[in-house]
Amino acid sequence: MRAVRLDLHTHSTESDGTDAPADVVRAAARAGLDGIALTDHDTTVGWEPAAQAAREEGLLFVPGMEMTCMDSDGTSVHLLSYLHDPHEPALLAELTAARAARLTRAQEMAERLAEDFPLTWELVQEHAAEGATIGRPHLADALVSLGVVPDRSAAFQTILTGRSKYYVPHYAADPVEAVRLVRAAGGVPVFAHPRARMRGRVVGEDVMEAMVEAGLAGLEADHRDNPEQERVWLRAFAARHGLFVTGSSDYHGTGKPNRLGEFTTGAEVLAEIERQGTGSEVVRG
Ligand code: AMP
Ligand code: ZN
Ligand code: FE
Ligand code: FE
Repeated sequence: MRAVRLDLHTHSTESDGTDAPADVVRAAARAGLDGIALTDHDTTVGWEPAAQAAREEGLLFVPGMEMTCMDSDGTSVHLLSYLHDPHEPALLAELTAARAARLTRAQEMAERLAEDFPLTWELVQEHAAEGATIGRPHLADALVSLGVVPDRSAAFQTILTGRSKYYVPHYAADPVEAVRLVRAAGGVPVFAHPRARMRGRVVGEDVMEAMVEAGLAGLEADHRDNPEQERVWLRAFAARHGLFVTGSSDYHGTGKPNRLGEFTTGAEVLAEIERQGTGSEVVRG
């Protein structure tokens, strides 16, 4: 029997991907995948069109999200959630706060950038879909359109790094609290790219253990941003704490080099996610 290949980390135009939700699903079908999770930053608006496309394409669809978090010393943590209830009030309130903070922060970064480049807030908005979760990738796209940088990656390596004078942080939930919120909403919390050091500082074992105690279910061990030698450590940590491990691409369309299905997750882990998740359901197209 052929192994099931699922890509459980993808982004659409509802956050900072470049394909509409249904197009991410269609691209996954073309790539020969059996299913995907849509995990836009801090939003679930893409679930419906993606689920519809999955039914049409005969693909499996896992409702998901990537929640922006920050620990007490300012270290960034991304928490994937699968199968949570998108209407659960406490989680919804947290996401609304994060999205509002992202918007104010992007406007502040745009103001700083406008001092040195012919960038306007209107131009930034042209690069984001109506209602999308705003982030640095949209500022990057505006800079690309102005010819300041050739692509998003160049923008992130120079003008938009966390050490740039244009960088502004924004409010985000504490990762331990976020794990609790996801669980309380019936979701399955998975730590995204836990050792993505090239993006900045990563949290230590102490924070990871606190997340486990709060109900963390899994680690995204196979992700291009985790250095290869650390994936071994992540697997060992997961085994020690009874967590499952996933592999995913973090596809952003043309916004990032990450290719759909470059890492995948199998049927056994999906069964575990379905066993633990009670807030929404997998769509089997
Ligand atoms: P923000 O959340 O607004 O601070 O922006 C960070 C997001 O930008 C991450 O979630 C990534 O998905 C995306 N990102 C980070 N690095 C890059 C890169 N080199 N090229 C394109 N997108 C990136
Ligand atoms: Zn992103
Ligand atoms: Fe992420
Ligand atoms: Fe992501």
